[in-house]
Amino acid sequence: MRETAKEKVTAPKEAAPRAPAPRPKRPAAAAAPAPAAPRAATPKSEPAAPRDIGIDVPRPAQPCTDQHCPFHGKLNVRGQALEGVIVTTRMQRTVVVEREYSRYIQKFERYETRTRRMLAHAPPCLTLAPGHRVTLMECRPLSKTVSFVVIHNRGVRA
Ligand SMILES: [Zn+2]
Repeated sequence: MRETAKEKVTAPKEAAPRAPAPRPKRPAAAAAPAPAAPRAATPKSEPAAPRDIGIDVPRPAQPCTDQHCPFHGKLNVRGQALEGVIVTTRMQRTVVVEREYSRYIQKFERYETRTRRMLAHAPPCLTLAPGHRVTLMECRPLSKTVSFVVIHNRGVRA
């Protein structure tokens, strides 16, 4: 089982990509409010329609009040889009997602399948459960270990 030892060496490479940029210091007086976008049809106060996150995924049918929901909150998504399967939903608004990838073993000229787990923020409007295939999208770091958010629930794995 030399692969296990090797895996440890190469492990950090796969760690969740994080934006190295430091948090911008916020001046005491909030910066001048950005010029209001000429968005006519969406008044801010009412339980708003899900906003367009710029990614081609269906918008959730249910509303939610999660501030970190890309559709109903203010969280912007950018960067990588990943797919995986939910392993556990026991945390509050955070899920464990498992992803498979294959790695070439030179000696045997074959591929082996490996898995890596990562944490992702789970907006309540997506009603996620273990076994669901999901699409993740990178976002700003929401915590030390969470910098992805679930944007699409593809349902139970076929
Ligand atoms: Zn939502």
